[in-house]
Amino acid sequence: MQFNAFYGCGYCLHHGETVEKGSGFVRVFPLSCPMPDKRTQEATFQQEVEATRINRSVQGIKGPTVLFLAPLFNVITGLIPAIMHCGSIHADPSDLGRGT
Ligand SMILES: [Zn+2]
Repeated sequence: MQFNAFYGCGYCLHHGETVEKGSGFVRVFPLSCPMPDKRTQEATFQQEVEATRINRSVQGIKGPTVLFLAPLFNVITGLIPAIMHCGSIHADPSDLGRGT
């Protein structure tokens, strides 16, 4: 997963912004209130279908993953969020590793 995309978090729909830094630009994820919506297994599957259909990413989802074929595996809560988000908006440890 890249973290320079507008939707760089696999755990939520935190939308990044582009800001100028030095002689270039960087993607930042400012704290937001209310918190961004969390991704769900069902919505992510639909986004994968749509991304494949239109051949373009949908809220950071670029296409299908074989992880959806794993029985009982949740592609959102079964993966560890990026440290960038763990230290900021997903700081509540009870948020992690828990089913939706
Ligand atoms: Zn997030």
